[in-house]
Amino acid sequence: MVNVFIISAPSGSGKSTLVSIIRRTVPNLEFSISYTTRKPRGSEQNGREYFFISREEFRQMIREDQFLEYAVVFETDYYGTACRFLDQAKHHGKDLLLDIDVQGAAQVKKKVPEAVSIFILPPNRSELEQRLRSRGQDSEEKIQRRLEEARREIENYDKYDYILVNDHLDESVKALEAILLSERQKRAGNPDVNLSELAETCRLENVRDRLEPILQSFREVAAGGK
Ligand code: ADP
Ligand code: 5GP
Repeated sequence: MVNVFIISAPSGSGKSTLVSIIRRTVPNLEFSISYTTRKPRGSEQNGREYFFISREEFRQMIREDQFLEYAVVFETDYYGTACRFLDQAKHHGKDLLLDIDVQGAAQVKKKVPEAVSIFILPPNRSELEQRLRSRGQDSEEKIQRRLEEARREIENYDKYDYILVNDHLDESVKALEAILLSERQKRAGNPDVNLSELAETCRLENVRDRLEPILQSFREVAAGGK
């Protein structure tokens, strides 16, 4: 049985940082490389971060029913997960990790209801803004657009099984590892109590109170008309 883990986050929350760490620390995990029509950024390479294809090629793959899910992200480009990554993970006896947006996560949950979904949040809006700036990849206009997009995406938090507030990186890594490993162990029938306890601290129903101030920090700015 393949366990499917879905990770989503508003841009700048630290998802890539966390994913690149757990890809090294959690064994038996396959990472799905998405297809996208956006252009490569910086040092990105075709077939490593993404498969970069044209819109026509993407539409052809849709017609051929090659996608487990796909979506238009940031109102501009197509992004999609090829079904073959799920088949490949099954074949290799590994679990599959998907780094996809909220639209894609909803589609995967429909097709694979037992998939485990994790939403990563920044500690608040100003920290997210700071991280987007410190990353130094986006223009001011893009940063503002990503913050606005983050406000919308964050409202979907309650569709996820786990919420990880990425405040201190080392603690977030431990919590994410605990979620993946404890879910895996639970499904294999040999749960580890300590790991399960740590994972449970990120369960949606256990973090609701902590989320309110984070959501509020985004709503206040929106209400202020910025
Ligand atoms: P995402 O993939 O969600 O868009 P990144 O992983 O690129 O985000 O992280 C955005 C920026 O925030 C990067 O400069 C990264 O080094 C930094 N960052 C990630 N996690 C933390 C954290 N817990 N504390 C402080 N900075 C962080
Ligand atoms: P970026 O362009 O910054 O790499 O990614 C933008 C957004 O697209 C991120 O939220 C990322 O999770 C999402 N994304 C990446 N691949 C896929 C995919 O295959 N499907 C969907 N639905 N979203 C994706």
